[in-house]
Amino acid sequence: MTDHSSPGALPIGRGLRGRCPRCGEGHLFQGFLGLRPACEHCGLDYGFADAGDGPAVFVILIGGFIVVFAAMITEIVYQPPYWVHAALWLPLVLIVTLAPLRPIKGLLIALQYHHKAQEGRLERRSDG
Ligand SMILES: [Zn+2]
Repeated sequence: MTDHSSPGALPIGRGLRGRCPRCGEGHLFQGFLGLRPACEHCGLDYGFADAGDGPAVFVILIGGFIVVFAAMITEIVYQPPYWVHAALWLPLVLIVTLAPLRPIKGLLIALQYHHKAQEGRLERRSDG
């Protein structure tokens, strides 16, 4: 197992590259957005990983802002015919939504691993 970063460092680069948050070597994804069951390099069980709607929320907020802002500027400055808007913004919507989904999902899972975040569960207090 090779760990190039200090133990306390945030695994941001690993997440963005879709690598295992613990060892940075194994792959996180199988297919476009599906997760592997575990890291093939260090054996970390990916069962904890659940980014939920987080990646979609960031993509909608950031991508939506980029496209709407660009469309407004273009309309104000050039006032082009509507087919120009369609030709410009439909492909841009696909680019700004599909391209960052995987890095953002990897980043959220890496941060989830780093901060040991998971669903709430009840603690047993039998032995005080
Ligand atoms: Zn690993």
